[in-house]
Amino acid sequence: MFEVMVDQERCVGCGFCVRACEFGAISMSMKDKVVLICDQCKDEEDGPQCVKFCPKEAISFTTLDSYAQKERTKTTEKLISGLAKSQK
Ligand code: SF4
Ligand code: SF4
Repeated sequence: MFEVMVDQERCVGCGFCVRACEFGAISMSMKDKVVLICDQCKDEEDGPQCVKFCPKEAISFTTLDSYAQKERTKTTEKLISGLAKSQK
Protein backbone atom coordinates (compact mmCIF):
# COMPACT_ATOMS: atom_id res chain seq x y z
CA MET A 1 0.00 0.00 0.00
CA PHE A 2 1.34 3.42 -0.97
CA GLU A 3 1.75 6.15 1.66
CA VAL A 4 2.82 9.78 1.68
CA MET A 5 6.02 10.06 3.72
CA VAL A 6 8.04 13.09 4.83
CA ASP A 7 11.79 13.00 5.27
CA GLN A 8 12.19 15.63 7.98
CA GLU A 9 15.94 15.82 7.40
CA ARG A 10 15.39 17.06 3.86
CA CYS A 11 12.57 19.45 4.69
CA VAL A 12 13.67 23.10 4.82
CA GLY A 13 10.29 24.49 5.85
CA CYS A 14 9.73 26.40 2.58
CA GLY A 15 5.96 25.84 2.69
CA PHE A 16 5.55 24.98 -1.03
CA CYS A 17 3.70 21.82 -0.07
CA VAL A 18 1.30 23.80 2.13
CA ARG A 19 0.37 26.01 -0.83
CA ALA A 20 0.14 23.02 -3.18
CA CYS A 21 -2.34 21.09 -1.05
CA GLU A 22 -5.82 22.07 -2.17
CA PHE A 23 -7.36 20.49 0.93
CA GLY A 24 -5.41 22.60 3.42
CA ALA A 25 -4.35 19.36 5.03
CA ILE A 26 -0.74 20.24 5.86
CA SER A 27 0.31 21.95 9.03
CA MET A 28 3.77 23.17 9.86
CA SER A 29 5.55 23.88 13.08
CA MET A 30 7.43 27.13 12.41
CA LYS A 31 9.56 26.50 15.48
CA ASP A 32 10.81 23.09 14.38
CA LYS A 33 10.13 23.49 10.63
CA VAL A 34 8.42 20.12 10.63
CA VAL A 35 5.51 19.43 8.31
CA LEU A 36 2.63 17.19 9.27
CA ILE A 37 1.07 15.66 6.24
CA CYS A 38 -1.69 13.21 5.30
CA ASP A 39 -2.41 10.75 2.52
CA GLN A 40 -5.94 11.93 1.87
CA CYS A 41 -5.59 12.29 -1.89
CA LYS A 42 -3.30 9.37 -2.57
CA ASP A 43 -5.93 7.77 -4.80
CA GLU A 44 -6.30 10.85 -7.04
CA GLU A 45 -5.43 10.17 -10.66
CA ASP A 46 -2.36 12.42 -10.71
CA GLY A 47 -1.28 11.59 -7.16
CA PRO A 48 -0.67 13.88 -4.17
CA GLN A 49 0.27 17.42 -5.20
CA CYS A 50 2.41 17.92 -2.10
CA VAL A 51 4.84 15.32 -3.44
CA LYS A 52 5.18 17.09 -6.79
CA PHE A 53 5.75 20.57 -5.41
CA CYS A 54 8.41 19.82 -2.83
CA PRO A 55 11.67 21.24 -4.22
CA LYS A 56 13.78 19.17 -1.82
CA GLU A 57 12.17 15.82 -2.62
CA ALA A 58 11.37 15.55 1.07
CA ILE A 59 7.92 14.10 0.41
CA SER A 60 7.62 10.75 -1.24
CA PHE A 61 4.73 8.61 -2.32
CA THR A 62 5.90 5.11 -1.69
CA THR A 63 5.32 1.90 0.21
CA LEU A 64 6.46 1.58 3.81
CA ASP A 65 8.87 -1.19 2.76
CA SER A 66 10.49 0.97 0.08
CA TYR A 67 10.73 3.93 2.43
CA ALA A 68 12.32 1.78 5.14
CA GLN A 69 14.82 0.38 2.62
CA LYS A 70 15.73 3.91 1.51
CA GLU A 71 16.24 4.97 5.13
CA ARG A 72 18.45 1.94 5.81
CA THR A 73 20.54 2.77 2.75
CA LYS A 74 20.91 6.38 3.91
CA THR A 75 21.98 5.27 7.39
CA THR A 76 24.51 2.83 5.95
CA GLU A 77 25.95 5.52 3.65
CA LYS A 78 26.30 7.90 6.61
CA LEU A 79 28.08 5.23 8.65
CA ILE A 80 30.48 4.42 5.80
CA SER A 81 31.15 8.11 5.20
CA GLY A 82 31.81 8.65 8.92
CA LEU A 83 34.20 5.67 9.00
CA ALA A 84 36.05 6.90 5.92
CA LYS A 85 36.49 10.36 7.48
CA SER A 86 37.71 8.94 10.78
CA GLN A 87 40.40 6.90 8.96
CA LYS A 88 41.91 9.94 7.22
S1 SF4 B 1 -1.64 13.92 0.39
FE1 SF4 B 1 -2.98 15.33 -0.69
S2 SF4 B 1 -4.39 16.09 0.86
FE2 SF4 B 1 -2.65 15.16 1.94
S3 SF4 B 1 -1.21 16.80 2.28
FE3 SF4 B 1 -0.62 15.89 0.32
S4 SF4 B 1 -1.71 17.08 -1.25
FE4 SF4 B 1 -2.67 17.51 0.73
S1 SF4 C 1 7.75 21.59 0.21
FE1 SF4 C 1 9.16 20.05 0.98
S2 SF4 C 1 10.85 21.21 1.85
FE2 SF4 C 1 9.13 22.62 1.61
S3 SF4 C 1 8.05 22.55 3.60
FE3 SF4 C 1 7.09 21.04 2.27
S4 SF4 C 1 8.16 19.12 2.75
FE4 SF4 C 1 9.41 20.77 3.52
